[in-house]
This record gives sequence, structure tokens and C-alpha cells, in this order.
Amino acid sequence: MPEIEYDGVIVVGLGGFGSAAAYHLAARGETVLGFDPRLPGHTDGSSHGRTRMVRQAYFEDAAYVPLARRAWQLWHELEDAAGEHLLTASGVVGIGRIGDPVAIVHDTLDAGQQYGLPLDHLSANQIRAQFPAITVGDDYEAVFEADAGFVDPQLTVAAHHRLAKEHGAVFEQRVVLGVEHDPVLRVITADAVYRPRAVVMAVGPWAPELLAGLELPIRTRRKVVAHFTPLDDTQLTADTFPAFFVTHNDEEYYGFPVLDGQGLKIARHSSGEWCTPDTIDRTVHPHEVEELHAVLREFIPAGAGDVRDSYTCMYTMSTDEDFIIGALPEAPGLIVATGCSGHAFKFVPVIGEILADLATGRPPQVDPTFLSPARFTAAAASDVAPAAGRTRGFELA
Ligand SMILES: Cc1cc2nc3c(=O)[nH]c(=O)nc-3n(C[C@H](O)[C@H](O)[C@H](O)COP(=O)(O)OP(=O)(O)OC[C@H]3O[C@@H](n4cnc5c(N)ncnc54)[C@H](O)[C@@H]3O)c2cc1C
Repeated sequence: MPEIEYDGVIVVGLGGFGSAAAYHLAARGETVLGFDPRLPGHTDGSSHGRTRMVRQAYFEDAAYVPLARRAWQLWHELEDAAGEHLLTASGVVGIGRIGDPVAIVHDTLDAGQQYGLPLDHLSANQIRAQFPAITVGDDYEAVFEADAGFVDPQLTVAAHHRLAKEHGAVFEQRVVLGVEHDPVLRVITADAVYRPRAVVMAVGPWAPELLAGLELPIRTRRKVVAHFTPLDDTQLTADTFPAFFVTHNDEEYYGFPVLDGQGLKIARHSSGEWCTPDTIDRTVHPHEVEELHAVLREFIPAGAGDVRDSYTCMYTMSTDEDFIIGALPEAPGLIVATGCSGHAFKFVPVIGEILADLATGRPPQVDPTFLSPARFTAAAASDVAPAAGRTRGFELA
């Protein structure tokens, strides 16, 4: 098999993370070769559909706020560079029962306060007044963030592909069979082995298999999404209705305003069955649609019409539900981007920027060290104290 010396960066996987990394690398004049057997717009991975929520006040962990703020800036820069509308600033409302142990409202408020982000803490009456389509009992509260909303993931991936190629990146429809670092970096394909300066591995839900040799604590989870035709959409469009998340029966649900041609989208963020891209059950079952419809009937009854579409998708879960972004301690030129845990698309532009920095030895503008794969090395693992409040993460079986 021919071995090809490649004086540049190879990006493996050109979905959400990989296409952003390729764009940021190429835009800086780096030589970039990208491999992905699928074309942008495919629905096999984690970046399909028309909506991904974008927030800055980050209840998951306030450590993400600097990344979220840089991402918010970069979304606007990407829109300018692409000449396309990608981000809809509909605002985001987070709803929870007062005193709920899954303290999403208060963790959001705390993160916002820590970084001076403008947020509204709403009582039940204020929720009803500001968002008449939302029905809650008096024992509910909410947090509203105006500088938030949603982006279109498929348009984003397509824009990153186009812009990266306009800056000279070369993309090939190839499957990468493996990556080695002994210590020479090798990217193995069916008919050639490449020896690049650096590699970015961004293979989404295929990571548990393709990166198995790296022993990263990741697993793939099946997710179900449904779209409903609203009974009355007069107060459910993005100009008057925000993207939302709500805790209900110890589960976390989220959704988006009504968009032309797609109705109202809702899905469950928490839990879900483990799978692989090869074993995932792609059928959405009636009880799964009913569960989401029941949440709409409870909180947004005007949106609870007939189901019009449903499909599956995959999260790549890390054991602590934090992303895994960074160089491998044992192979500085091998940069991984995985463990999205279902909340990473909002960070795609800044993750792309950071991956480009790490692949070219530049210090990132926003420090991503808390996301480094080094946290899983034996020594580091014993120091990681679980976050208080919301139970996050899982034990690898
Ligand atoms: C239903 C759902 C809802 C979500 N909602 C939100 C949200 O509201 N807000 C938010 O911030 N995040 C959200 N997320 C998370 C977000 O969408 C993901 O974090 C993001 O899409 C991950 O992108 P990725 O690049 O890791 O994966 P992908 O976009 O799937 O890209 C992986 C790519 O790798 C390629 N590949 C695989 N194997 C190989 C190989 N051997 N060789 C070469 N290429 C290969 C694939 O073809 C694919 O194109 C959601 C995710 C899902 C599933």
C-alpha cells in the first residue's frame, strides 16, 4: 500500500465539527485534506435537521460560558462569510418546577450571573403573560435568555464545506479505516496510507468504534425527534415564541418554534437506549411519539396537533457528558473531537477554531483545557469530582 507524506492537516469526518475545523484551517492558509464517505446533508449521523439550540448562559457547567460567548460571535462572522442566514435569535426559555432537583433554571441563572449575562427570571404569571402559548401551574418558574435561539445544522455544514473548499481545502469521499501514531501519524484508507503533519478526528457517533484503540469513555445513544402540526400557530412562530427546554417527570425535553414546512419540533434530551450507527433502531415507535405529544399537551397545547414527521439521530455520550476536544497526551498531532453528548452544535464554530489552533500549535483564544482527553488518563481520572446538583454522566459498562 503506498505511503503518502502529506505536508498538511487531514480532517477525518466532515460533519458538524470536522467541516468547521477544515474551514478554520483553510481560511488561515493551511493545507487541508478532508475524508468523509458521506456528502453534506446526509442524515446518518448527528448533524441533520433544521434546528439546533444555541444558548450562552450554560446550566450544564458555567465553564462553557466563555466558549458559548465566542461561539455566539463566530456564528455572526460565519453568516457574514457565507452570506447566509444561519442563526435565528428567537431567545430560549428554560422551564422547571420551583425547587426541582434538576435545577436547570437556577443553574442557568447562576452561570449567567457569574459572567454578567442578561437573563430574565420569570414567575408562572410572567411566563403566561410573556408566552401565552405556554401553560404552567403556579409552582413553575422559568429563565429567559434573549441572546439565544437556534441555528440550522444542515445549512451550517454546507456553508463550512463550501467556504473551506473556496479557501483551497480538498475533500474526498473516502472511508478512513484507522489512525495510528507510533509515533508517526498514519491515516489508513483502503488504497493508501497518509502521513500528515496533524490529524483531526471528528467522526461523530462512529467514534466509539473508530477510536476504540484510544480508550476514550464514549458510547452512542439513540435519540428520537418528532414534529407536530400545531392546532394554532399564531403564538408559536420564532418572532413571538422562543426555543424551549422543560424538565418533566425527571426527564429533560426541548423544542423549537414552528418553522415553515416542519411544524413544531420536540425531543427528549435525557436518557435513551445505547446503540451503534450499525445497530440503531431507525423506527420511531408510537409510544415514543405519544410521550412527546403528552409533553406538548401539558406545556404547549396549541402545538399538540397531529404528528407530521419523526426520525432518529445519535448522541456520542462521554461518561461525564462533557465534550472531548483536544490532542491526545501520547500523540500531540492527533486531535480528537468527540463526546458531543447532545449539546455541542451550538459550539461548532468555536470548536472548529480550537481544532484548527490545536492542529497548528497555536494557543486557542478560549481555553478548552477542561475538555481535554487528558482528563481521562488514569492519574487525572481520580481527581474529577462529579458536579453537584444535576446528575450527569454514566458508568461505562
Ligand atoms: C437529535 C439531536 C438534537 C440535538 N440538538 C442539539 C441542540 O439543540 N443544540 C446543540 O448544541 N447540540 C445539539 N445536538 C448535538 C449536535 O448535533 C452534535 O453535537 C453535532 O452534530 C456533532 O457533530 P459531529 O461532527 O460530531 O458528528 P457528525 O455531524 O455526525 O459528523 C461525523 C462525520 O464523520 C463521518 N465519518 C464517520 N466514520 C467515518 C470514517 N471511517 N471515515 C471518514 N469519515 C467518517 C460521517 O460520515 C459524518 O459525516 C443534537 C444532536 C442530536 C442527535
